[in-house]
Amino acid sequence: MAKPLGMDKKDKKDKPVKKDKPDKPVKSATSSLLTRLTKLGIRRDFDLVLHLPLRYEDETRLTPIADAAPDTAVQVEGRVIGTEVAYRPRRQLVSRIQDETGILYLRFLNFYPNHTKMLAEGATVRVFGEIRNGFFGAEMIHPRFRVVRGVEPLPNALTPIYPTTAGLPQSALRKLIARALSAHPMEETLPPALLAPLALPSFCDAVDAIHHPRPDSDARALQERTHPAWCRIKFDELLAQQISMRAHYRQRRARTAPAMQDRKTLTAQFSERLPFKLTGAQQRAWREISADLGVAHPMHRLLQGDVGSGKTVVAALAALRAVENGLQAAVMAPTEILAEQHYRKFCEWLTPLGIAVTWLVGSQSKAERKVALAAIESGETAVVVGTHALFQDKVKLSKLGLAIVDEQHRFGVAQRLALRQKGNTVDAAGVSENTEPHQLMMSATPIPRTLSMSYYADLDITVIDELPPGRQPVVTKLVADTRRDEVVNRIRDACNTGRQAYWVCPLIEESEALQLQTVLDTHARLAAEFSELKVGLVHGRLVQADKAAVMAAFVKGEVQLLVATTVIEVGVDVANASLMVIEHAERFGLAQLHQLRGRVGRGADESVCILLYQNPLSQGARERLKVIYEQSDGFAIAEADLALRGPGEYLGSMQSGAPMLRFADLATDERLANAAREAAELMLDAHPEAARLHLDRWLGGRAEFLKA
Ligand code: ADP
Ligand code: MG
Repeated sequence: MAKPLGMDKKDKKDKPVKKDKPDKPVKSATSSLLTRLTKLGIRRDFDLVLHLPLRYEDETRLTPIADAAPDTAVQVEGRVIGTEVAYRPRRQLVSRIQDETGILYLRFLNFYPNHTKMLAEGATVRVFGEIRNGFFGAEMIHPRFRVVRGVEPLPNALTPIYPTTAGLPQSALRKLIARALSAHPMEETLPPALLAPLALPSFCDAVDAIHHPRPDSDARALQERTHPAWCRIKFDELLAQQISMRAHYRQRRARTAPAMQDRKTLTAQFSERLPFKLTGAQQRAWREISADLGVAHPMHRLLQGDVGSGKTVVAALAALRAVENGLQAAVMAPTEILAEQHYRKFCEWLTPLGIAVTWLVGSQSKAERKVALAAIESGETAVVVGTHALFQDKVKLSKLGLAIVDEQHRFGVAQRLALRQKGNTVDAAGVSENTEPHQLMMSATPIPRTLSMSYYADLDITVIDELPPGRQPVVTKLVADTRRDEVVNRIRDACNTGRQAYWVCPLIEESEALQLQTVLDTHARLAAEFSELKVGLVHGRLVQADKAAVMAAFVKGEVQLLVATTVIEVGVDVANASLMVIEHAERFGLAQLHQLRGRVGRGADESVCILLYQNPLSQGARERLKVIYEQSDGFAIAEADLALRGPGEYLGSMQSGAPMLRFADLATDERLANAAREAAELMLDAHPEAARLHLDRWLGGRAEFLKA
């Protein structure tokens, strides 16, 4: 391991150096204190070292009362010339202090007898707060103050203000942090050869500069977190994330999966029969996946592509590669509607090749399920399509070679891990005890590059960045809901000339019951308005058979207008549907709007998406609608979404379990993120011990998912 740097700090030298044990719980803390610390994410002593200030207050200087600028926090020192309780306009304690330049009123609306005592006439006090011009002159409301006795030098560092929680005052937190800082030697985890070219301070210096900045340090850079010390902290955080993700990646390369040969049978037959030619992007994606499947290590590849980019064909090719190697493939979707779309597509494509496709979902009858399970277990089934029901223990995929997971971000990490265990039961067709299936994950929710490089660094990523030819861009219109009647007439005209339309009901996140009521009401109202047409209805509460019947009728053109909730967000593929109305579009997120709009524009007709909105619009809603109106490219929309909402929210449902970033911001710290990626590989290659230490420092106790 590299020799630790940063040990040359003056005030640490003569103290006994204790071993840096990051997973030690916070020392001698009472249980209520522990609860409060846990609230702040502090579980171990070392977490206190990494509990960094939100901002600073400058108590290193005294400002003469007359010189204080309004609305800026300053520290003033003066002698109390009077303190009394006033009753107007309301009960309050008013104290007057004086320095050489003027008089300042201090007002306390909440006060205790102790306040009066401390602010006794003649006492010298240091007060900190914002000065404003009150009725009687300069005043401070509720300043922080301290009585000064004798000579008290000013602190020589800015005062850190830490994020805290009720019942944990700054002073207590500061003491705990100071103790943690002196208790840990703050070893340097970066090997010198790696640190030098980065031109960043040592970890030790960075931590010190942030907790106790010198008065001459660049306060603004500290505040804005652009200071080199902050860069070092952010770099370290990103590095920890990269190390954990890349370590995961490498572990996977050490496990085994069945190596699938290109038998040139089923895949070749399928390609020949396809009524269209694969786009360049699809061909490239298939080449990458095909190469992965040929290797005896589990593939974990994320296939990203905008709605309608044709991911399913590529997935079908991958499934066939498994089947032509005597293995099974499983296709999983997060909803029954989506699973059924896949089931239909796979049946259409695979049945002519003589391949049995089995259907498995939670809503099946016991009898149907039994038949399906038996067929799966015996290996008679080559391809199974379903929902998360496929993850269950009862499902014995004896020869599973490939698992295809659509809209993977909707599945939890646990479910993904459960999949790993699926393939290693039977010793047949080259599948031995310890092999696991390959995994192909698909996502139509484009993930901005910076995010995917960071949060998906344990996966390989393929992007289909080209739509099949002949697609017409969807025309998007923003219409205030006061003009709903016009929209209704327009839909009627279109449906009467043989076109089909979707009517998407407003999203009501707070109440599922209300959501259901709204969709029922909307359907009733539209059915009355369109008495000459057939108006269908789909929503999440419909039993599967009814849902399937309505969808089938819509696909056949028997239903012209389909009233739906967001259940149609993914997967629905009806080329003849060229109109979509989204009611209360202002309530939807950008990704949702983009997904919904992707349901139209699949045929030769020009498609239109009408976003009905209700005034007044919030600032956020206005920005979202502007983005969706101006942009049609999923990645551009995702970038805008990231900018509007920040990565935390963006990732919220996507990758629970992945280490989240507290300090680094991928939108602004891309340069550091790239450097961290490179450094992570280097450390895993050449300095595994340092990598372990670094990971432990940053993720110790929080990396359960990564151990799996
Ligand atoms: P998604 O990426 O959204 O899952 P799909 O795989 O459902 O997209 O494809 C959307 C539609 O485009 C389907 O009807 C599919 O058959 C068709 N399609 C896919 N690839 C091509 C292609 N290369 N040329 C023409 N049509 C294609
Ligand atoms: Mg799809």
